[in-house]
This record gives sequence, C-alpha cells and structure tokens, in this order.
Amino acid sequence: ARPAAAAASGARVEFRGLRRAFGATVALDGLDLSVEPGELMALLGPSGCGKTTALRVLAGFEHPDAGEVLLDGEDITGVPANRRDAGMVFQSYSLFPNLSARDNVAFGMRVRRVPAARRNARAAELLDLVGLPDHGDRFPHQMSGGQQQRVALARALALEPRVLLLDEPLSALDAKVRLSLREEIRRLQLSLGVTAVFVTHDQEEALSMADRVAVLNAGRLEQCAAPAELYERPATAFVASFIGTMNRLPGLLTGGGTVAVAGQRLPVDGDVPTAVRDVEVLIRPENVAVAAEPDGEAVVASASFLGAVTRVHAELAGVGTITADVPSRDAVDLAPGARVRIGLAERPVRVVPSASPAETPTEAAAA
Ligand code: ATP
Repeated sequence: ARPAAAAASGARVEFRGLRRAFGATVALDGLDLSVEPGELMALLGPSGCGKTTALRVLAGFEHPDAGEVLLDGEDITGVPANRRDAGMVFQSYSLFPNLSARDNVAFGMRVRRVPAARRNARAAELLDLVGLPDHGDRFPHQMSGGQQQRVALARALALEPRVLLLDEPLSALDAKVRLSLREEIRRLQLSLGVTAVFVTHDQEEALSMADRVAVLNAGRLEQCAAPAELYERPATAFVASFIGTMNRLPGLLTGGGTVAVAGQRLPVDGDVPTAVRDVEVLIRPENVAVAAEPDGEAVVASASFLGAVTRVHAELAGVGTITADVPSRDAVDLAPGARVRIGLAERPVRVVPSASPAETPTEAAAA
C-alpha cells in the first residue's frame, strides 16, 4: 500500500545557468545544480549567497534574468508557482491564523475542489503522519512553534508534490525541537520518496540531514558533495573554511606528491597543483597531536574544554596559530604558556593554491 502522503514520485530538479540580479546586487551568478529524484539536497552558504533566491526561483515566486529550471527534464521556468507540483515550508510557519490545523492542511485540496469528506480524511491522515493526530481542531495560536511547523509540513505534502521546498524551516525553533524535527523531516522525506531542497545557514543541519550539500558562495556553486566528502575533501579554500574548523597552513610542494608543512613532509591527497609551489595545506584539528614537552617548538595560547576533546590553540614560530582537538584525558598539561610539540597525523592532506582574501569567509559568515 502507498503511504498516506505518497508523492507521485520524486522529480529530478535542474538549475541551469541561473542568473538573478536585484539592481546592482547579483544574487545568482550562473548557478548550475542537479538534484536527483528522491534526494534531499541542502543549499548552504553565508548570508546573502543566494540560497533563498535559488529556492524561490524553483518555487516560481521569483523569475531568473537568465537560465532555466527543469523538473524531470521539462523546462518549467515560465510555469506559474501554483502549477509547479511543489510544496513549500517557510521559516515562519505561515499558517492561516483563522483556520484550524485540519483546514490549513486541507486548504490546497479545497482550492482544487476535492470533496469535503475526502479532503478531511486526507488531512487527518497527514496530521497523523506528522505526529499530530489529535490536533485537527486546534488553531495556530493554540500550538507550539514545533507543532505549527509540523502542520505546515503536512500542508506542504497534501497535494503529493514531486518536490518539497524547505526554507530555513527549523531556524525559528528552540534547539531541542529543532533536533527532533530534523529527524522527523528526514524520516518523512525518505519514506515518501519526495525530492527535497532544503535551505539552511546551519552547517550541522545540512551535514546531518542531506544526501548532498551544495555550498554556495556569491551566487555560484562552490562544491556539491555528500557530507563526508565535503568534510574530508573540500574542493576549495572557501569550502574548507566554511565547513567545520580547518587549519590552513602554509606549505611548499616538494615534488613526488608530497608537501612540506610545519617541519613535516606529508603525502598530498588528490590532485597536486602544478602551476604553483606555495600552497595552503588543509588539516582538521582532530588530525593534529599536541604533547607537552619542555623544548617543544610551539606555545599553547589557549585551551578550551569541550567535553570529549579540548580545543587547543598553539603558536608555532614561522607557521602561525594551529588549532588542535586533543582528547581531554591527554590535555591536562596543556595550559596557556606551556611549551608543546606539534605532530600532524601521517595521512594524506588536501592542498589548495594559496587563497586570495576574497576566498576566505569572514568569521561572521562562517558562524
Ligand atoms: P540569508 O541566509 O541571509 O537569507 P541567502 O543566501 O538566502 O541569505 P538571498 O536571500 O538569496 O540570500 O539573497 C541574495 C542577495 O540578493 C542578497 O544580497 C540580498 O540582499 C539580495 N536580494 C534578495 N532578494 C532581494 C529583493 N527582493 N530585492 C533586493 N535584493 C534582494
């Protein structure tokens, strides 16, 4: 049997060369991206990178200056929003305040003249599906934010959309509700097989929910990959700095696929740049070892206990600040001022050509 809210089937979504400017502000600068049927794709990036504009173009609320949007290979760029087979969930719930939960969910069906008995039965099924079987008679002001967002999700699924669009759906909720609704949305999306495009500025949310994450920067696609791939093998300096914490250390390519960095020589992972010798070496804090030693070459600047690990910032002459996550049980001697030895894990490292400042996300953008 088909699940209560089965999607007709998840559609394949394609953005081709999307451009959209608002006056002098270029929101989308030639965006190319494909979302596979049934996939959950997160659009992630700093404020103003064009995430919401891309979603609004897909929904049909915004029209591109150039480029196309395809749904299962069909060009829908000129199709009005209400004929696009898309369900949308917004950050602000956007329920009709004067309608009950049931009537909110049934609204689209009423517009399409589905008979009352059928639409009420279906609204009940959908409310059941989002875990609110007894809330049909409640009005939005009688429900919590998390409950309102569940109703909004049920409403978005009511017409069996081929694509579900989620615009920062969890941002207005408190941390605990956010976590449970994350899992809930993912579970529903997987069981229904609906294609989903999810806008967020929260990297943890993107990495934990998505099949693939598209990192946008200044209206363009920086990298699109599965979460682990994005974390382990960032394609650009921007992605490296935007996802998690990354040491970007000066290195010198030494031939034979190795790089000299912080007094060590490490194998390079992936393509070795040929046009340059000076590179940035990308190393995660968990791959840096720090040990107290009286004649160590570095000095601890700060050590913050984070639970399982202690995050240590150490100053290394000629290199700069190195960030290390040290298992807390090994970090007892690592007080500020302590001399330490730095060891980089003997594993292949990513390198990128030394970046220009423009490719470096600001602290604020990466937060
Ligand atoms: P945020 O995370 O802050 O929501 P975003 O990545 O979703 O950012 P967009 O909302 O897509 O970014 O906006 C991209 C750029 O386009 C921004 O500089 C924004 O100010 C601008 N912009 C978006 N919509 C409009 C509009 N209707 N009029 C003018 N400028 C706009």
